[in-house]
Amino acid sequence: MDVDDTPSEEALTTVNTLENIERDEESDIDVSDSQRAKDIFYGTAIFESPADIDIIGTKPVEDVPMLTWVNFEIPPKKMKITNSGHTVILSGKWGQERPYITGGTLTGKYVFSQLHLHWGVNSMEGSEHTVDGCRQPGEMHVVTFKSCYLTQESALKESDGVAILVYMFKLQDKPNAGFSIISDALTGIAKAHTSMKVNPIELTTLVKQFTSDYFMYRGSVSTTNCVHYITWMITRVPMGVSNDQVDSLRYLLDDNDDLIKRNFRPVQLESNRSIFHVLPSTSKYSTLLPLTEYDDKTVTQIYRMEFDRRSNPLFQFGTSQSESILENSEVESDLYSEEEDGESEPKIGNKALCIVRTIKKYISSVFYGLIVLFL
Ligand SMILES: [Zn+2]
Repeated sequence: MDVDDTPSEEALTTVNTLENIERDEESDIDVSDSQRAKDIFYGTAIFESPADIDIIGTKPVEDVPMLTWVNFEIPPKKMKITNSGHTVILSGKWGQERPYITGGTLTGKYVFSQLHLHWGVNSMEGSEHTVDGCRQPGEMHVVTFKSCYLTQESALKESDGVAILVYMFKLQDKPNAGFSIISDALTGIAKAHTSMKVNPIELTTLVKQFTSDYFMYRGSVSTTNCVHYITWMITRVPMGVSNDQVDSLRYLLDDNDDLIKRNFRPVQLESNRSIFHVLPSTSKYSTLLPLTEYDDKTVTQIYRMEFDRRSNPLFQFGTSQSESILENSEVESDLYSEEEDGESEPKIGNKALCIVRTIKKYISSVFYGLIVLFL
C-alpha cells in the first residue's frame, strides 16, 4: 500500500474524530466490568490464527460489558468495492460519524476500517476458522482498529491494535439483500487491483450487530517480515447467503488472471488454547446458532438484485485455475487495503462486453420482429 506522508483533509477529519472518540472512552462502562475486560484481554495467551472453534472447549465469560455498536446505521459519504487480487474489499469514507465498536472484552474503541471475504472452490470449504472441525462455505471479516493508534498501519504494529469481527457463511435459498451490494458489483472489478464506487449503504444492511454470545480469542498472524496481533470475535449467528452469491466470488481474478478459487488459510493447531465464549446464551447445543428468518420487507429487494450468472461477463474468462492456498503474507495484505483515494474505474473490457451484448440483443430482437412481420 502506498503511504502518502501529507495528511489529506479527510485524513485530518478522521484524526479529529478519533480524538473525540478517545476522550469519551470508558465514560459509560462500569469500572469493575471494564477491569475484568482488561484482565481477560491482556492476560490471554496468544496463538496463531485462524483456529477451530468448538463450544465445548471454550471458557465462558459472564462479567464483562455488552459489546456496543456506534454509528453503524449512518451511511458513509462514499463507498467503494475493490478486488485486491486476493479478496474483495468493501470500504467507505465517513465524516464525523465513523462507525466503531467498544465494550465486551475490548479495552478501547475500535473504528471500522473495511470488510472483506474468504471463500473456497465449493461450499464444502471457504471459511478461515473451522467450527467443530468443519469448514463453512465462507467467512466475512469486518476489520476495526483501535482509535488511539489513528491509522490501521500504526495499529497493526501494536498487540491490541486490530480487532476483526467474524461472520460465518451459511447457505440459504434466498439471496442476502445486504450481500448483494458486493455480489452485484463483482462484474465491475473482475480484474485484480480494480475498484469501483457503489451507492453508500449503512453497514447494518450487511453487518449484523451482536452484543453477546460470541467467541473471542487473541491470535497472531505471521507474515514474511513480522507478526501481527489480532483480536478475533466470532458471532454465533451465521450469515445467510445463497449459493449463487458465494459462487459469484469464484469468478474474480488474481494477479495472474487466474480465478481466485481459494483465499483461506489453514487452521493452526495448538494445544494450549484460550478461546472465550463471551456472555454466552443458555443455548449450548451447537457452536453456531441456526439462521434467523428474513424480514419480509427486504425480500422484494433481494429478488430485484439477484445475481444472474448467465449474464455475468466474468463467465467469459478462461477456466485456468490456481488451486494453491495463498501464502499468509498475501492474504493478510488485504488488511492494508483500507480507504485510499484514486480508485480506478472498472476495466473497459467488462464495460465493452456489456455494451456489445446489449447491442446484440437489440439487433436480434429487431431481426426476429421483422421476420414475424413478413411472415
Ligand atoms: Zn480476512
